[in-house]
Amino acid sequence: MKSVIVVGAGPAGMLASVAAAGAGASVTLIERNPFPGKKLRITGKGRCNVTNNCSPREVVEAVTANPKFLYGAVNRFTPSDTIAFFENAGVPLKTERGRRVFPVSDKALDIQQAMIRRVREAGVRLLCDTRVTALTPPDAPGEPWTASAVWKEKKQLFTADRVILATGGVSYPLTGSDGDGHRMLRDLGVAVTELKPSLVPIETKENFAPLAGLTLKNVVLTAWLGESAVFSEMGEMLFAHFGVTGPLVLSASANMQKRPVSEYGMTVNLKPALTPEELDRRIRSDFEKYAAKDFVNALTDLLPKSLIPYVVKQTGIDPRKKTAEVTKEERQTLAGVLSGFRIAPKAFRPIEEAIITAGGADVREIDPKTMEVRRFPGLYVAGELLDVNAYTGGYNLQIAFSTAHAAGLAAAAED
Ligand SMILES: Cc1cc2nc3c(=O)[nH]c(=O)nc-3n(C[C@H](O)[C@H](O)[C@H](O)COP(=O)(O)OP(=O)(O)OC[C@H]3O[C@@H](n4cnc5c(N)ncnc54)[C@H](O)[C@@H]3O)c2cc1C
Repeated sequence: MKSVIVVGAGPAGMLASVAAAGAGASVTLIERNPFPGKKLRITGKGRCNVTNNCSPREVVEAVTANPKFLYGAVNRFTPSDTIAFFENAGVPLKTERGRRVFPVSDKALDIQQAMIRRVREAGVRLLCDTRVTALTPPDAPGEPWTASAVWKEKKQLFTADRVILATGGVSYPLTGSDGDGHRMLRDLGVAVTELKPSLVPIETKENFAPLAGLTLKNVVLTAWLGESAVFSEMGEMLFAHFGVTGPLVLSASANMQKRPVSEYGMTVNLKPALTPEELDRRIRSDFEKYAAKDFVNALTDLLPKSLIPYVVKQTGIDPRKKTAEVTKEERQTLAGVLSGFRIAPKAFRPIEEAIITAGGADVREIDPKTMEVRRFPGLYVAGELLDVNAYTGGYNLQIAFSTAHAAGLAAAAED
C-alpha cells in the first residue's frame, strides 16, 4: 500500500485524496486553514458553478492555456463523472443557461460539505491548521518524500511514498491560496510560468466612475489586438469605479494575455439586435421625435441616461447642436459609435482580485496522464497550481477535478 501526502484541501486536493484512498492508498490531506474548501465556498457568487454539462472535448475547447495537456485527464474524469460524484454524495444538481451546473440548493456550502464528507468516508487523515513549507525529495529510490510543515508554530515532519501538491493559484489569497506551492516547486527547480491575473476586471484609460453600477445586458463585447478580434461574445457587462467588469469582461480578459493589456482595444455593440438599416431607421425616428431638442437630448430612448455623454463624446458631434441640424454623415458616425463604443484598457485589476491565476507549474515538466513531475518521480501537481485555465462556466473546477483524479490514481498505484 502506498502512502500519499496531499498538500492543500481545495477541490483538487480533496478529490485527489478520495481518488487515491479509493485506489487503496493511505492518504494524509494537509490544509493550512482551519477547514477545507474555503475558496470553494465563495465560488459562483456563493452558488458554486461546479462543472459544465458538456462533453470532454468542449471542456478542452474552453481552456485558454494549454488545452492539449488536459485532454487525457478530462476524458478520464469527465463532467458527467463530476455530476455523478456530487449526486452520489447527496447533492442534487441542476443545469442552467450555458450548461452551467449548480447545486439545486444554490449553496456552494453543500458542495464543500459533500467533498469533506467524501474525504472522511474514504478514510483520509485530514490535518487542518497545518501549513506545508517545504518538500524534500527521497535521498535514494525507495526512500520517502518529506513534507516540512508548521502546526501551531511547531515544526512537523511528514513522510510518504508520494506527494500531491494542490495548493491552488494566487488569486483571492485570503482563502489560503497565496503561492506556497509555486515557491515549493521553484525551490525544487521545477519551472513555474509567469503568474498573471485571468478572468479579471479591467481598468480603463477613460474615467467611467460616474457610470459605476451601470449594467449593459445583451451587448456584444469585442476585444481587439490591432485589427484582429481576439474575443467577441454577447452577454452582460458592467461599469465600475475603476473601469469595466462583469461576465463578458472577465471572459475577454482570458483572451488578452499574450500582450500587455493596454495594447488591446475593446468595443461594445450597444445595439446588436438591430441590423445597420434597422439602427439607422431607429435613429432617424428618434431624431424626428426630438427634432427641436439638442442632440444630447435626442438619445434618451436609445441609451441609458448616464451613458449618453460618453457616446456623444465619441461621436465628436456638438451636444448642443439642434437634432434637426445633425447631418447624414454625423448620423452615420453615431450609428458607428452605437455599434462600436470604444473602451481603452489600461491594466488588469490586481491578481488578488482575479477569479483565476494564469500561469503556474510549467506543463512541459509534467506527465499529462499522471500529473507526475517528470524529473521528480513521486511528486504530482493538480488543480489551479498547474498552468492550465479556462473561461467561466464551471470549467475551472472541472480542470481541478480531472487533474486531481489523474494524480490521485497515479499516486496510489503500485510500481
Ligand atoms: C470568487 C471566485 C469565484 C469562482 N467561481 C467559480 C465557479 O463558479 N466555477 C468554477 O469552475 N471555478 C470558479 N472559481 C475558480 C475555482 O475556485 C478554482 O479554480 C478552484 O478553487 C481551484 O481549486 P484548487 O483545489 O486547485 O485550489 P484552491 O481552491 O485554491 O485550494 C487550494 C488549497 O490549498 C491550501 N493551501 C495553500 N497553501 C498551502 C500550504 N502551504 N499548506 C497547506 N495548505 C495549503 C489553501 O488553503 C486551499 O485550501 C472561482 C474563483 C474565485 C476566486
